[in-house]
Amino acid sequence: MTGLYDSFQRPINYLRISVTDRCNLRCIYCMPSDGIYLLSHQDILTYEEIYTIATAAAELGINKIRITGGEPLVRSGVPKLIEMLTHIDTIDDISLTTNGSLLGRYATELKSAGLRRVNVSLDTLKQDKFKFITRSSNSLGDVLEGIEEAKRVGLNPVKLNMVVMSGVNDDELLDFATKTINEGWHVRFIEFMPVTSQGIITSQFLSVSDMRKRLEQLGELEPCLPSVGNGPAKYFRLPRAKGTIGFITPVSEHFCFHCNRLRLTADGKLRPCLLSEDEIDLKQPLRSGISLAGLKQLVEEAVARKPLHHRLAEGYIPKDRPFCQVGG
Ligand code: SAM
Repeated sequence: MTGLYDSFQRPINYLRISVTDRCNLRCIYCMPSDGIYLLSHQDILTYEEIYTIATAAAELGINKIRITGGEPLVRSGVPKLIEMLTHIDTIDDISLTTNGSLLGRYATELKSAGLRRVNVSLDTLKQDKFKFITRSSNSLGDVLEGIEEAKRVGLNPVKLNMVVMSGVNDDELLDFATKTINEGWHVRFIEFMPVTSQGIITSQFLSVSDMRKRLEQLGELEPCLPSVGNGPAKYFRLPRAKGTIGFITPVSEHFCFHCNRLRLTADGKLRPCLLSEDEIDLKQPLRSGISLAGLKQLVEEAVARKPLHHRLAEGYIPKDRPFCQVGG
């Protein structure tokens, strides 16, 4: 077998890179209510260090990279990083996850740098609720404009991720789904994961099967065949819809058996699993002059330490970092 495989024979070809722990929003499901301890400039990897790690990972078999955060677009020079990563020949897909508030400003630059596609977190279409969910005074209008600008410059697809919370935004499920019919939106509904000290509680969890029952008021959900996307979402289409509806079920039906990813935190820790505290430090070795071969060994070690599946069902919740510090 060529490429990178973990101890359960899963092929690992995807690296999610968090470029900052900072975010201009403070979403209730993501950021602890008392905020986070922010990393200093020296604590976070430079773009050159990220490039070196990506090169080592690519030599082992990683061919897809997603840039995330915190909010990646609050760190200056993200288009420059993307451009650097395009020089790694075997990386054939570079994407970005963003809250969209700065996307209008950067979409053109990102596209020119080599970004292919973008996922935008969008949990509501109502300004008041946007304020409540994001605990910020930012404008929903900026996010919607960012989405349109991303489409206009040719980032494709633009996928919209909604974390669905009962009693918070589940009343908008049909509004989002209708946008897949009328405006060709690609929407993904994500189950809320009950991780570290957030502003919402477990009883606000809504399963994908409950979401589906509600959405079927709009018509039958036809599976998209051949299946689209290469992540954990399962995709469907409503009658006459140009856009798609994806469901992501990290809680009710975990997809760990297909996990193909590693995560790199902004402070240089390689995390075998989003929902485990295990991590391997790459920053210190890098700053002490480790060779590319040595770095590759550390990447292989992280892959070997991937657990078979997360343990949310057993009540195990990683307590070390909220999602905004891992990269979601
Ligand atoms: N700032 C960017 C954004 O808003 O997309 C990137 C980072 S954010 C941590 C990445 C993803 O994690 C988002 O799509 C968000 O919806 C998801 N996320 C964060 N906390 C979550 C939770 N408790 N349950 C489910 N998804 C969560």
